[in-house]
Amino acid sequence: MTLSERDKAHLWHPLTQHKIKPEALAITKAKGVYLYDEQGKEYIDGIASWYTCMYGHCNPKITEKVTRQMQTLDQVVFAGFTHEPAVKLSEALIGLLPGNQQKLFFSENGSTAVDVAIKMAFQYHFNKGDKKDTLIAFEDGFHGDTFGAMSVSDLSVYNGPFEEFFLKVIRIPVPTGENNHEVSEQLKSAVAAHKVAAFVYEPIVQGAAAMKMHDKEGLNTLIEFCKNSHVLTIADEVMTGFGKTGKNFASEYMESKPDFICMSKALTAGLLPMAVTSCTQEVYDAFYDDDISKGFFHGHTYTANPLACTAALAGIELLVSDEIGENIQNIIKSHQEFDDRIKNHPKVLSTRQQGVIYAIDLNVKMERYGNLRDLLFGYFMDNGVFLRPLGSTIYILAPYTITKKELQKIYEVIESAIEKII
Ligand SMILES: *Cc1c(COP(=O)(O)O)cnc(C)c1O
Repeated sequence: MTLSERDKAHLWHPLTQHKIKPEALAITKAKGVYLYDEQGKEYIDGIASWYTCMYGHCNPKITEKVTRQMQTLDQVVFAGFTHEPAVKLSEALIGLLPGNQQKLFFSENGSTAVDVAIKMAFQYHFNKGDKKDTLIAFEDGFHGDTFGAMSVSDLSVYNGPFEEFFLKVIRIPVPTGENNHEVSEQLKSAVAAHKVAAFVYEPIVQGAAAMKMHDKEGLNTLIEFCKNSHVLTIADEVMTGFGKTGKNFASEYMESKPDFICMSKALTAGLLPMAVTSCTQEVYDAFYDDDISKGFFHGHTYTANPLACTAALAGIELLVSDEIGENIQNIIKSHQEFDDRIKNHPKVLSTRQQGVIYAIDLNVKMERYGNLRDLLFGYFMDNGVFLRPLGSTIYILAPYTITKKELQKIYEVIESAIEKII
């Protein structure tokens, strides 16, 4: 039996209705930008496995360091203990993050990074004797699948069984440039009418919403207003963090900096699950007290796992290297050239780019919309490219190590899919 056949006996996959979904494809090996299946067929990983493996799969500059760390210290409780990988990572991360970020709290995935920020925001106000119960979030946002993160997400479509248990959230549209004034008025009236603890947002690019992009100036105004209104700001950079938008963090594009930044996905270069919620000294100080109950009593078993910290450190070393920096610029340029070629195609509705993130909205008739995503996905895979279209949007977010030639192959497969399928 193949792995795909054996898989069916006991495995329950994420985001999957197993009765409808065909079997899962077994991947046996990954190297650089390539994934290899059971039959040895290779696929270019055009989305870096959900934007995690940004330095290529099984990058020896990362795996060798983690292998060494594995033989020295594997895991230790982080409550009451510390270790070199965590200390070194904290120094490197604080050096990389916007200047107002001073403290780091570890957890295990993007959802928990957001949940930690939300809990900290509520407790920050509570510790100051100012109970607040409401959050503000963007329409079409995605922040994860645990309860707090799910509550602030707008995109979790199949929420029926849980909705009544959600946190109290007020949703506002993203600023587009034209509607900036209207959106900031909506924020102002929400803050006036409710006890708002925090504003949670994906800065400038909403990943799961098919790389929907919004206006930097408009977002800056919203953050600024929150700062002046005792509303904490939580930038969910789980997708945008670590270079994807053309800067290390998308928050660098705004003059006003957030109180919290949530990181995961590319943080550990796709090697191990880990997340960090960073915050300002001011937030930290609201918990620092002789009263034990003002502390933050939250923890996960694998908090600051030494192997994950080592992978993260190796990833940051690569991110700031000349080689990766240059290749990021090359990818940005290649996307621009491809965009010039494709944006006026009659079957293309619109295109957008921010850093190495590139997306195409297809011009499709509604009746064709239903299975379009599956048709495109199948066509790309048949042609050796792993892309995960969302609705009628195709996006590319390839590892920083991708070559010009490999990028051309992605572009060509997209162009031929547009000709043959749309
Ligand atoms: C993926 C993602 C999350 C959730 O991260 P998980 O590790 O899947 O829990 C949260 N926010 C954003 C912006 C994401 O892209």
